[in-house]
Amino acid sequence: MENGENSQMRTKRFAVIGDPVGHSLSPLLHRTVYKAVDFYEKIGVQASYEKQRVTPEALAAFLSDTELDGFNVTIPHKERVYALLPEARGDAALAGAVNTVVREEGRMVGYNTDMGGLLKALQSFGAEYKDAVVCVFGTGGAARGIARKAAAEGAREVRILGRSKEKAEAILPGAFLGMPTAQTLRGADLFLNATPLGMTGMTEDFADLSFLNGLPAQAFVYDLVYTPAETRLLAAARACGLRAENGLSMLVWQGLLSDALFGIAPAQTLLTPEYYGAAYAALRKELTQKK
Ligand code: NAP
Repeated sequence: MENGENSQMRTKRFAVIGDPVGHSLSPLLHRTVYKAVDFYEKIGVQASYEKQRVTPEALAAFLSDTELDGFNVTIPHKERVYALLPEARGDAALAGAVNTVVREEGRMVGYNTDMGGLLKALQSFGAEYKDAVVCVFGTGGAARGIARKAAAEGAREVRILGRSKEKAEAILPGAFLGMPTAQTLRGADLFLNATPLGMTGMTEDFADLSFLNGLPAQAFVYDLVYTPAETRLLAAARACGLRAENGLSMLVWQGLLSDALFGIAPAQTLLTPEYYGAAYAALRKELTQKK
C-alpha cells in the first residue's frame, strides 16, 4: 500500500453490543459480507466489525459516548435502545425495539431489520403475510414485531399463541387464542415459533406437537430457532408433510439489511444470492463445527 493511499483510507467501525455477547454470530456474518463485497474497492473505505459487551448499567453512557459508525443490538438491549434513542425509523416503532443503530450526520438513529429479515426469509420460501392467516407462538420481543408486521403487511388474520394473555393483548388486542392446539391452528397458512423452546441449551421443548395436525397441507412452519438446525418442531412438521425451515435465513437477511443501512453497499446489491449465500454458508459451517 502506498503512503498516499493509506492516509486516505478510513476504517468504518461497526460492532454488535449485548450482554452476554460472546455467543454472537454477528461478527462472522458481517465480516464475511465485508470480505465478499470488497468494501475498499467499492466505496473507498474499510470496515471492521467487533463484538462489545455492554451491561445494562452502561448502556445509556455507551449510546452517548460511542464513536462507532454503527452497531447491532442483541439481548437484552433491543427495547431499551429503542426507548433511549431520540430517533427511530422503519419497523423499529412497530417492534418497539431496535436492532441496528446508524450514525447519520452525527446523530445515532435506530432501525429494526429483524422484521424485514424475516419477511425476506419467508418470501424466499414462497410464503408471505399478505392475505395469510398467520399464527405467532410467543409474546416476547420477536413475537411483538412479527405479529404487528404481519398485520401491517395485510395478513387476513393474525393469531397470537402463548401463555400470557396480558402480553398478547398488549401486542395486538383481540388476537390471543391461548396455547397452540389443532383447533387454534385450523386454517392457518403460517406457524411461526417465536419462543426459545427447542433451542440448544434450553431445558424446555414442546411437550406435545400434535397441534401441527391442525395445519392445512399447504401451511408453512418457520422456527426462529436455528440451533439445532433441525428442532423437534421442524422434524415433526416435516413428518406431517408440511414445509418447514429454521431461523438461520432470518438471521442472515437481517444482517444484510443492517449492512445496507451501514452503507456497505446498496440494498439491491447486498440482498442477492451472492452475499446471502456467502454469509449463510459461513454461519452454517460455524454452527456445524460447534456441534
Ligand atoms: P423473549 O422476548 O425472551 O420472548 C420469549 C417468549 O417465549 C416469551 O413470550 C415467553 O413467554 C415465551 N416462552 C418461553 N418459554 C415458554 C414456554 N415454555 N411456553 C410458552 N412460551 C414460552 O425472546 P425473543 O427476543 O422474542 O426471541 C424469541 C426466540 O426467537 C428466541 O429463541 C430467539 O433466539 C429467537 N430469535 C431468532 C432470530 C433470528 O434471526 N432467527 C431473531 C430474533 C429472535 P412469557 O412471556 O410468557 O415468559
